[in-house]
Amino acid sequence: MASLSLKNISKTYPNGFQAVKNFNLDIADKEFIIFVGPSGCGKSTTLRMIAGLEEITEGELWIGNNLVNDVEPKDRDIAMVFQNYALYPHMTVYDNMAFGLKLRKTPKEKIDQLVQEAAKILDIVPLLDRKPKALSGGQRQRVAMGRAIVRNPKVFLMDEPLSNLDAKLRVQMRIEISKIHQSLEATIIYVTHDQTEALTLGTRIVVMKDGVMQQVATPIDLYTKP
Ligand code: ADP
Ligand code: ADP
Repeated sequence: MASLSLKNISKTYPNGFQAVKNFNLDIADKEFIIFVGPSGCGKSTTLRMIAGLEEITEGELWIGNNLVNDVEPKDRDIAMVFQNYALYPHMTVYDNMAFGLKLRKTPKEKIDQLVQEAAKILDIVPLLDRKPKALSGGQRQRVAMGRAIVRNPKVFLMDEPLSNLDAKLRVQMRIEISKIHQSLEATIIYVTHDQTEALTLGTRIVVMKDGVMQQVATPIDLYTKP
C-alpha cells in the first residue's frame, strides 16, 4: 500500500531561503495528485523531498506506515520522471531501462522480462538497441518513462514530463500515462502547467504559491465552482 502523508513539511535551503512552508497533505493509495502553481513556488522541491533527493528540514514524510525522512532514495520504492529525460547517453535504451534494476541486484532473466514488458507497453521494442542520441524527443521521453516503470514502483513522481513534447505527442503520452496509472496501480504525483492534463488525469489538484499550499480540490470543484 502506498498512501503518503506529508505532515507539516518545510524546506529551508542552505542559503536560508524557505522554499516550502508547513506543507500538509494526505494522499490515498493509487491517487493521481496534480501539483500546479507558478514557477518557483516549490513544486519540484516538494517532489525532490518525497524522492529523498533533498533533505526535509522540518516535518514528517510517511509512506504507508513508515516514516521515511531518513530512508535512502533507492530504498523508498519511488520512481521519478523529469522533463529533461536524464538518460545515460553512453548506454543503449535497454541498458538505460535495466540500470535501476541492476543497481538493485535483480536477476538477469527477470530484468530481461521487465524491460521487454515495459518496452511493449510504451511501444519502444524496436528501439532497445539504440543510444539516446538516435531517438526523437518523444521516444526519449518514452524511454525515461520505461526506466521508471520497469521497477513497478508504488509511488511515481513526474515533474512536467510532457512539457518538451509537441502537442500531438502530448495527447498520446497523456493517454499512455493514464494507462500506466491503471496498470501499475501506483500512486502518482504529477507537476504540470497544462490544464487539460490536470483535468483529465488528476484525482485531486494541489495549488501552490510561494512555498505554501493554497488549495486542494478535485478537478471539477477547482475549475467549475467559483
Ligand atoms: P517550482 O518547481 O515550483 O518551479 P522549485 O521547487 O524548483 O519551484 O523552487 C522553489 C524556490 O526555491 C525557488 O525560489 C528556487 O529559486 C528556490 N531554490 C530551488 N533550489 C534551491 C537551492 N538549491 N538553493 C536555494 N534556493 C533554491
Ligand atoms: P534508478 O533508475 O533506480 O532511479 P538511477 O539510474 O537514477 O537509479 O541511478 C541511481 C544512482 O546511480 C544515482 O545516484 C546516480 O547518480 C548513479 N548513476 C546512475 N547512472 C550512472 C552513470 N552512468 N554513471 C555514474 N553514476 C550513475
